Amino acid sequence: TTEDLYCIGCGAKLQTTDKTQAGFIPASALEKQLADGGEKLYCQRCFRLRHYNEITDVPVNANTFTQLLNALGAVDALIVNVVDVFDFSGSVIPGLHRFVGHNPVILVGNKADVLPHSVKRRRVTDWLRRQAHAVGLRPEAIQLVSAVKGWQIPELLALIEKERRGRDVYFVGTTNTGKSTLINAIIKETAGVQDLVTTSRFPGTTLDRIEIPLDDGQKLIDTPGIIQTQQIAHILSGKDLKLVSPQKEMRPRVFQLTAGQTLFLAGLARIDFVSGPAGSFTVYVDNELLVHRTKLSNADDFWMKHRGELLAPPSTAELADFPPMHQEEFTPPNRSDIVIAGLGWVNVPGHAVVTVHAPQGIGVGVRPSLI
Ligand code: GDP
Repeated sequence: TTEDLYCIGCGAKLQTTDKTQAGFIPASALEKQLADGGEKLYCQRCFRLRHYNEITDVPVNANTFTQLLNALGAVDALIVNVVDVFDFSGSVIPGLHRFVGHNPVILVGNKADVLPHSVKRRRVTDWLRRQAHAVGLRPEAIQLVSAVKGWQIPELLALIEKERRGRDVYFVGTTNTGKSTLINAIIKETAGVQDLVTTSRFPGTTLDRIEIPLDDGQKLIDTPGIIQTQQIAHILSGKDLKLVSPQKEMRPRVFQLTAGQTLFLAGLARIDFVSGPAGSFTVYVDNELLVHRTKLSNADDFWMKHRGELLAPPSTAELADFPPMHQEEFTPPNRSDIVIAGLGWVNVPGHAVVTVHAPQGIGVGVRPSLI
């Protein structure tokens, strides 16, 4: 029986009957895991996510999330909002600032390990603060961390301790920001607590939560990841997603460009240098991702001819389901980063007139150079 069994990854109650719903685990896998001791049970979705970096969406009713978010406004707690430093727009929980009410928020920028060393951390936090303000969030503090490397976890815990003032702590985030990895890193850091992870249900919802007891009787509460459909993770298959999500420190790739040249970022995006003085364009994307330079006058033909093959991902097979491309023009007054959410950024010279082509729904924006 799966009566009181919960996935330690997402907190969902395990079930063996409906594979389209949260907490599904094939009966045979469950039996095997139980036979092996059954201390760390994962639903199929979390298992795949952990072992194959494969995203398998469980459809979640938007209504249910609204109920969850409403629950946040009703508690007296510290809210920790985990975001991905590569994908702020894909990390935004719509309306979060309204739901948190008067509760203080700490913004955690995860995946800092893939930022090149030359990137000034202060500039990253300044940018995150501006982005947060733009969506109405006023965080008390911003902390960059790497959940995978365990960077700045003690600093984050100290910050949480300072801001929570005896209250419970709720972790919220969209899926793929690394919230689960971060919670695991915190459990590891606060050694010994591992055995004490418990689960319970949010009142009035079908959503489960994971509670990690703190010394003073309060709790760290991990909420289910909210699915945000504007993420690049939702338009790429698992293998491609792994290819575009930087796994280690990015090596900047520098191109000396004159007006009338184009850079393709595989088949995912295209940066046209329309006019302006010649200068360097520096690309910060996954080290394995193809960056290809052509003449702008040939770019449309090249794109049509090679997309799905030379310019992949996406592959030819995936192109059918891929969102259409949209274009946006930028002319930053100073050297700036053009950010393509989830993919990376390109540092461009001031006064360059640049047209960016990116998949519809994927956020594109400009910020002052991080370097
Ligand atoms: P969740 O859906 O927010 O719980 O996200 P997960 O914890 O499952 O992580 C999503 C993906 O991001 C996984 O592929 C992780 O390996 C990756 N990830 C998580 N934390 C980090 C990090 O600190 N650095 C890097 N480079 N990747 C991370």
